[in-house]
Amino acid sequence: MSNYLETNPNKDGYFGRFGGSFIPPMLEKPFKDITQAYEKLKNDPKFIEELKYVRKHYQGRPTPISFAKNLTEHCGGAKIYLKREDLNHTGAHKLNHCMAEVILAKYLGKTKVIAETGAGQHGVALATAAAYFGLECEIHMGEVDIEKEHPNVVRMKILGAKIIPATHGLKTLKEAVDSAFESYIPQADTAIYCIGSVVGPHPFPMMVIDFQSVIGFEVKEQFLEHEDKNPDNIIACIGGGSNAMGIFSAFIDEKDVNLYGVEPMGIGKKLGEHSASLTYGEEGIMHGFNSIMLKDENGEPAPVYSIGSGIDYPSVGPEQAHLKDIGRTQVGLCNDEEAVDAFYKLSQLEGIIPALESAHAVGFAMKLAKTLPKDKTILINLSGRGDKDIDFVVEKHPIPNAKF
Ligand SMILES: *Cc1c(COP(=O)(O)O)cnc(C)c1O
Repeated sequence: MSNYLETNPNKDGYFGRFGGSFIPPMLEKPFKDITQAYEKLKNDPKFIEELKYVRKHYQGRPTPISFAKNLTEHCGGAKIYLKREDLNHTGAHKLNHCMAEVILAKYLGKTKVIAETGAGQHGVALATAAAYFGLECEIHMGEVDIEKEHPNVVRMKILGAKIIPATHGLKTLKEAVDSAFESYIPQADTAIYCIGSVVGPHPFPMMVIDFQSVIGFEVKEQFLEHEDKNPDNIIACIGGGSNAMGIFSAFIDEKDVNLYGVEPMGIGKKLGEHSASLTYGEEGIMHGFNSIMLKDENGEPAPVYSIGSGIDYPSVGPEQAHLKDIGRTQVGLCNDEEAVDAFYKLSQLEGIIPALESAHAVGFAMKLAKTLPKDKTILINLSGRGDKDIDFVVEKHPIPNAKF
């Protein structure tokens, strides 16, 4: 049955025409070494056992599926369920791949992990995993982001990570990637590079998809307890696409399940006002892989915006581009205002404060639910919890129905 999973990506890391590896020659050998080591390790019973152990006894997996009864009644249509990735240790799905990446590092005999981070969520998850397994952790972050995301910077430092500011160019994510690669090349014997989503050159999208796919495989069993069938619709927000691939993977060959990746429409349709890469983007190469991306007039990655700082990325992982291209997935849209409304609705109706990123999936699900009959089901991948966003949201968007 899992025809698709067995044949994607191909040996060069392509999903259809998307993916591949476009990297400086200096990175070719270390990345090829990682690919070969991973191909062996992924079938090693010890590696699999260790990953299962930490997921169960440290991370808190399996995460439950909750029926959102009040939200369902509020929308008045399809039944809405939530896959609770917000209940992972550190509060989001990112630990699914970070724990696995650090176990991989350990099996390869490396003593250090290196990565970039944008809003700091990947940095915090990787610093957590590195602390648990006793490896050094070096995080590259744009100077502008260091200012903006102060709590995450402090968290990483408390967890023992070393923060290296990227001080050139716009001093944000792209520069942090450059800085991380530059630092990694001379350290490749003792360190490993760990990416934060299903993006980057081969083998990283493949590895992160594998590590995140635990979400969907849990759903396959768990959803039967609720409905005795597959969900009719699965919805996840897309930044790079890792939480979405995590829940989609197990269902790609199940054609009766509609898969929706939700893109942030920000504050408008003009370039720079949103980060809807699949909706408005074109084919191109960025950060080492071929995909669909938002380009500016010079063909460079365009400036992007979303209220959800973990989903404002000008491209998407190659498999997201491919699945849309072959018509297996559909794109849903949710703007800032709808996301904030969903943030408060889920909080006040269900007692769950979602991450602003995840609130985009909730916002689109609420629109879809209203168009569907009551016997249909929607499962939202609730990628993370919203504690990190509360101060920002209440300052900019006053609490509705506040009782004080
Ligand atoms: C990082 C993040 C995302 C976006 O990343 P994907 O790779 O698209 O999943 C979404 N939600 C939360 C809570 C995040 O931290």
